[in-house]
Amino acid sequence: MQRIPRLQERRPDQGDYLLLAWRFLTSSDPDIVADASKVNLRRLQYMAFGAVLVSIVHIVVFGLFQPATSAVELRWRSGIIVSHLVIAAFMVVVGWFGGRFSKESGQQRWSAQLLQYGTATFILGMGVAIAAIDQLATTSIAPFLIACAIPALLLLIRPGVTLLLYLAAYAGFFGAMWMQADPAIRLSNQTNGLTVMGLGIVLSWTLWSTHARTVEQQKLIQEQQQTLQATNARLSYLAAYDELTGLCNRREFQRLVTKELQRMGRTHHPSCIMLIDIDFFKLINDTYGHPMGDRLLQSFGEHLQNELRVIDTVGRWGGEEFIVLLPETTLTESLQTAERLRAGIETKGFGPQRSLNITASFGVAPLRPYDTDGLQVAYRQADAAMYSAKQAGRNCVRPQMADV
Ligand code: GH3
Ligand code: MG
Ligand code: MG
Repeated sequence: MQRIPRLQERRPDQGDYLLLAWRFLTSSDPDIVADASKVNLRRLQYMAFGAVLVSIVHIVVFGLFQPATSAVELRWRSGIIVSHLVIAAFMVVVGWFGGRFSKESGQQRWSAQLLQYGTATFILGMGVAIAAIDQLATTSIAPFLIACAIPALLLLIRPGVTLLLYLAAYAGFFGAMWMQADPAIRLSNQTNGLTVMGLGIVLSWTLWSTHARTVEQQKLIQEQQQTLQATNARLSYLAAYDELTGLCNRREFQRLVTKELQRMGRTHHPSCIMLIDIDFFKLINDTYGHPMGDRLLQSFGEHLQNELRVIDTVGRWGGEEFIVLLPETTLTESLQTAERLRAGIETKGFGPQRSLNITASFGVAPLRPYDTDGLQVAYRQADAAMYSAKQAGRNCVRPQMADV
């Protein structure tokens, strides 16, 4: 199994940590960002729904229950109601765009990014505003806490952007606390706000890291699956085909002949096999070298395929010996085909620039469907016929001998 690469093998020093921190803050792997964007756009729709419900509850509670007892309280209540009206209206628009963008491809589009970061900014901004309004009548900074938690928990935001957004939000919050008249409470709130901002950042970074790791692992798994598929394809190819010539190998040829024998059993048509052995091939190897011999075998295989019908199957039986299945062909027709091939080989020239002249010997035998092992019987006969062609001086065609 492939090992997940580690960033550093040696002990990291201070510089490495700074580099890692910088990489984390500026991380912009397009796959991770695109995946985060997809998640965010979907979540924005649910967030919009939730935000509208929460806003309605606030508007009802602050508007209808317990009439205000002072002018300050009235200002405070009105401020909360207006803020939630703004939130509800804004989030309806966000939900609508979120739904639209998530149906489109290319979620990295700037408008989709703007929607996500814009919403996070809006939520933080509203948290600051409502916390400021709350100082008219209470000491609470809960709205800022809630506003820091929502984008951190629900939106996947790039670490660098999170840092900037939360720092800006805190700056706003720090200033907004001047709405608090009591200096001791103001100082306490400003300090607590700092912790709240820190928690928001850490939460957001943690969720982003988990997301980034998941996407990286998915990518790795996908790559491994692709490698596995390619290896499997290569293995199934090698199980059926000869690597040098691309012709089917002995095992595949046997499989195809078995099928042909079954077909012959049903339709009673004749079929033959033909063995072809290159004459004095050892001499070619000895004279020109093995690689040249290989190239000759390749061009020889191509030639056979070009010269035969599409329904014929050419295989490499081994070494410089080739075998052909000729379906729906009588022995006489097969001998004619063999003779045509023989004459063609004699004149063509093989190998690079067709520079090598060779001849081949042929043995032909019919397949018999009722033989228990039809191919073995036919092969023995064709081999004996080929042997007699060699005996007869090579470069000739011989049919099956009497039953061998
Ligand atoms: P004959 O006319 O009797 O068939 O003689 P021959 O030299 O063709 O036959 P022999 O059986 O003596 O030699 C076959 C040679 O084929 C020997 C072997 O090294 C060579 N051979 C077998 N497989 C390959 C291969 O994949 N590539 C190359 N270049 N040579 C091969
Ligand atoms: Mg030979
Ligand atoms: Mg041979």
